[in-house]
Amino acid sequence: MTISPQTDAPLSQGWQWSPGYAALGSPFLTPVPTQALPHPYLVAYSASAALLVGLDADAFDSSSWQQVLAGNATPQGCQATASVYSGHQFGVWAGQLGDGRATLLGEIAPPQQHAGVAHEFQLKGAGLTPFSRMGDGRAVLRSSIREFLCSEAMHALGIPTTRALCIMGSDAPVYREQIETAAVVTRLAPSFIRFGHFEHFSFRNQHAELKTLADYVITRYYPECLATQQFNGNPYCALLQAVTSRTARLLAQWQAVGFCHGVMNTDNMSILGLTMDYGPFQFLDAFDPGHICNHSDTQGRYAFHKQPNVAYWNLHCLAQALLPLIEDPALATAALETYKTDYPQAFDACLAAKLGFGAASAATQTLAHAVLQLLATDRVDYTIFWRRLSHWARACDPADASVRDLFVNRAEIDAWLLQYSELLAHVPRAVAADLMLKTNPQYVLRNHLGEVAIQAAQKKDFVPLAQLLAVLEHPFDEHPAYASYADFPPDWASSIAISCSS
Ligand code: AMP
Ligand code: MG
Repeated sequence: MTISPQTDAPLSQGWQWSPGYAALGSPFLTPVPTQALPHPYLVAYSASAALLVGLDADAFDSSSWQQVLAGNATPQGCQATASVYSGHQFGVWAGQLGDGRATLLGEIAPPQQHAGVAHEFQLKGAGLTPFSRMGDGRAVLRSSIREFLCSEAMHALGIPTTRALCIMGSDAPVYREQIETAAVVTRLAPSFIRFGHFEHFSFRNQHAELKTLADYVITRYYPECLATQQFNGNPYCALLQAVTSRTARLLAQWQAVGFCHGVMNTDNMSILGLTMDYGPFQFLDAFDPGHICNHSDTQGRYAFHKQPNVAYWNLHCLAQALLPLIEDPALATAALETYKTDYPQAFDACLAAKLGFGAASAATQTLAHAVLQLLATDRVDYTIFWRRLSHWARACDPADASVRDLFVNRAEIDAWLLQYSELLAHVPRAVAADLMLKTNPQYVLRNHLGEVAIQAAQKKDFVPLAQLLAVLEHPFDEHPAYASYADFPPDWASSIAISCSS
């Protein structure tokens, strides 16, 4: 094994590296050397993500930090590791997978006077690991930009997600469907542990390791499970229930904002209920419930409207994996069952907010589901509809045609708007409209917006990427200079084919 060179790149005062999950050592993680990225250069960084780990903007100009962020050196005291996991891919047991191109440098904890949690610091695309299988350990600039932008965009939308600190690029060629160039994204999250980590040890009947992993996750992230009175006081069942509940809320947020993940394999499901592993994701343009964003998903397993059920299926895989610790299948089933109420409740609450109401009611539920039907029939642009409706709600003026103009079937949307305005009469309209403008974004990371930033970055113009990030960091504000980012997608957007290739 080669040892990566170490650098004395400093963090802000008082911030500490610690091994975090890597302290569990073998068989959970394997030390790996990171693989040098030739002649790296900074492509983009997120100032808000940097705050999470005590870095200021100057760090991205410093050559010692750039070396760390490219995987060419590790900070003093850090040992890069890759973790092992398994998983179900497209509904089929795939066996061992693991961090094939992501290495964990450790965890950064803020000094005591800082509130906030410790974050794992992970380099994606930093080279081969023992889990690379047939892969090259690399990530291309195109997919790295998509992951970077979407992580930060989701965070700004208030949707739980892993974060992205920065992208380092290189001219080194990487072979995909065509030759592209390499990049490394630094990702941050309190933990990158996946459902697949549990499946790995359970499938191999390594129950001692399974318990070590579950105890680690409970102690670090779900300490309330230790004191549970529910489920006969079984903390592992309480963990299953807590993950079920977080996943239900996450899925409700995805469906409400129109986010399609694209590869909801169990190895891409976060034990913390975070959106993770951004690959062929897409924010819907026209509202098509059956939309399949991943070109490689020929069966449509991960179509937009199937996502909530897929998450439930994935939670069953997690339950199965935890069964040696839970012991009683009836308890595990009871924990899983909470999804059936948590998901619809969370989704209806999201829809109520989209309509301007602080809480769901039978009336908001009926109206929301009715309008989703109309949006689907007429394939109306999802983001534009909700944003226009937010402005319309302030006056409910029948002469304001901005919403009805989006529909082919005018009579039906007119009837719906009338019903909606009757419901709005029960609340101050300005309050409703203000809530809607904070709930229904003006800007989402549409595929074509990402594509424009990618094409410029591939020619070493990183300005459009920085501009798009700045807009997506404040998706509920108006940005007059970038009004076009909120427009309907151009015709060429539908020809962008996004596959698993990354
Ligand atoms: P994904 O589809 O990106 O979630 O990846 C599934 C599995 O393949 C994970 O174990 C990844 O680490 C691994 N993988 C994906 N791309 C590569 C690559 N270029 N090199 C090595 N491993 C990879
Ligand atoms: Mg993955």
